[in-house]
Amino acid sequence: MTFAHDTELALAVAARLVNTDPGTGDGEDTLRTSADLVAFLDETGWSGSRAGDDAELEAVRALRPRLRELWRLDEDALVTAVNQVLLDTRALPQLVDHDGLGWHIHAVPSDAPLATRMLVEAAMAFTDVIRSDELDRLKTCAADDCDDVVLDLSRNRSRRFCEGGCGNRENVRAYRDRRRAE
Ligand SMILES: [Zn+2]
Ligand SMILES: [Zn+2]
Repeated sequence: MTFAHDTELALAVAARLVNTDPGTGDGEDTLRTSADLVAFLDETGWSGSRAGDDAELEAVRALRPRLRELWRLDEDALVTAVNQVLLDTRALPQLVDHDGLGWHIHAVPSDAPLATRMLVEAAMAFTDVIRSDELDRLKTCAADDCDDVVLDLSRNRSRRFCEGGCGNRENVRAYRDRRRAE
């Protein structure tokens, strides 16, 4: 394991959240409705309060470009940004255990707004990544037409493409190019 279990989970969920938004790349926005948000939260096992209203949906949607930006920052800029998030949200790390997850850290109360908790959870995970000097685990999909973020937890840091099928598409394209060249 590269990071603490809650860090890896938080990074995976943050990446998944960012990637519901195609950004400037191809694909569909898969977080458009309250039902989409409920499905996302249930699939990723999010605990804590949910308002279930449009304001909450909008706040979570707005979090995606912000997290995408954090994901791509260099170390110094990310340090500054993460510290600012923790300051602004008055983050106070506490060890908690619920739903059989084992001890992990929550840094804002479980009744804080959902988007705030999502942001702080990602920020806390980034503190772990920065301290471990593993920022190169946070990548962007290598496909030209894809804006997805990639969490590379592979042993040899070889992961280049997102889970949206870009790796396969690139392989097919490379194969066709080779055929054409022959
Ligand atoms: Zn928790
Ligand atoms: Zn991709």
